[in-house]
Amino acid sequence: MPIYEFRCLHCGRLFEKLFINPSEKADIRCPRCQSDTCERVISRVNYVSRAGAGRTKPSVTTRSCAPGSSCTTIEIPGADD
Ligand SMILES: [Zn+2]
Repeated sequence: MPIYEFRCLHCGRLFEKLFINPSEKADIRCPRCQSDTCERVISRVNYVSRAGAGRTKPSVTTRSCAPGSSCTTIEIPGADD
């Protein structure tokens, strides 16, 4: 089951929602202010922006791994701590 991350455009709250069935997408509300003005956040980008606030940034490398597609490798400094 997919878990999507959303950001409330009203108060900025980040929250995750688990979709058991696709029709639930019609009912996305901020758990803090109950606003339904929320945008989907792509987790990887979100993670990078969070990590970027710290002292080190993850290294993102995109390369071709097959004709017509690419692979992305993310190296996160200090992830083993
Ligand atoms: Zn909100």
